[in-house]
Amino acid sequence: MNEAEGAPSQARERHAVLAELLDEANWRYYVLDSPTVSDAQYDLWMREILELEEAHPDLRTPDSPTQRVGAPISTEFAPVAHLQRMESLDNAFNHDDLAGWQARAERLIEADPGPYLCELKIDGLAVAIVYEKGRLVRGATRGDGRTGDDITPNIRTLGDVPARLTGDDVPDLIEVRGEVFLPVEGFRKLNEQLMDAGRPPFANPRNSAAGSLRQKDPRITAQRPLRLIVHGVGKWEGAEAPKTQSEMYDRLKGFGLPVSDRYKVVGTLDEIRGFIDYYNDHRHDPEYEIDGVVVKVDRIPVQRQLGSTSRAPRWAVAYKYPPEEVTTALLDIQVGV
Ligand code: NAD
Repeated sequence: MNEAEGAPSQARERHAVLAELLDEANWRYYVLDSPTVSDAQYDLWMREILELEEAHPDLRTPDSPTQRVGAPISTEFAPVAHLQRMESLDNAFNHDDLAGWQARAERLIEADPGPYLCELKIDGLAVAIVYEKGRLVRGATRGDGRTGDDITPNIRTLGDVPARLTGDDVPDLIEVRGEVFLPVEGFRKLNEQLMDAGRPPFANPRNSAAGSLRQKDPRITAQRPLRLIVHGVGKWEGAEAPKTQSEMYDRLKGFGLPVSDRYKVVGTLDEIRGFIDYYNDHRHDPEYEIDGVVVKVDRIPVQRQLGSTSRAPRWAVAYKYPPEEVTTALLDIQVGV
């Protein structure tokens, strides 16, 4: 391409290098459950490539890592199409990014998008679970957002996952989204057992959860102390749908699904910052690892108005905490199976 029309060759070359690094990291993280770079390093590459594309929009092609979610699904499980696309989240790394997110949302709808629901960003594995007439019929990983791995027998082994939903107002069809994780204590014990058996330990709780859930033999999954917290809904049909994210959580809890009680609905940016700062200082209070805070517009009609980009909703943002030394140090350990 004529350089006058597009990005200079230096930017183009750097973009190609970053795209390759990110593709490789995605493959190792999502498909092999065995990352070889830290999340912080991955986030730095992602930020750099986003900035390059901001400066040179012609670099933002549909196959760029910035336009995709996750990685292609593995061939070990049957593919399953999600009833609604599963997305990623855009990141904020400081209070200015957060204010930028809020200002963009306000500009788009020409009104105050608040109130906001603040909750913890659980460092686990995203799953979608479908209930028809209150019965669990399918569980799947996020995969590339459109198609995931069918892991229904494995999902059924989780004690937190009800086989049947309870209550009078259960929708005919509901697809719930949540995070499967291994509590920090369970992760520690599992690694001890693996090492006692002469097997390599997992690098971190997130990878141990992913490796434990994506087992061909659900009996192995059943032995792992996996937990679930539900934080969203894809499809909701056949019963009046909730009007806010917080009402959604009350309803899901009423159906017998596990919902976090560590969330707060607030009205202003300052209050969001207060929640973020509190959990920055109390990062290890929850029994699971967190890598940040997710801020969501609480009113669902406003969420719809804001819609999504090609990979993430505009009505939510993930505020990422700075990395902790220990996670990166552990990355040198080979990942278990
Ligand atoms: P993400 O993890 O930044 O955010 C999206 C995900 O957050 C959602 O899919 C959802 O499952 C999860 N989530 C957790 N708590 C949530 C809550 N309360 N509400 C809503 N969603 C919640 O994005 P991603 O696309 O899943 O992964 C990208 C991130 O994964 C990177 O920023 C990096 O940290 C990590 N990663 C690391 C490597 C590596 O090699 N180390 C490779 C790929 C990805």
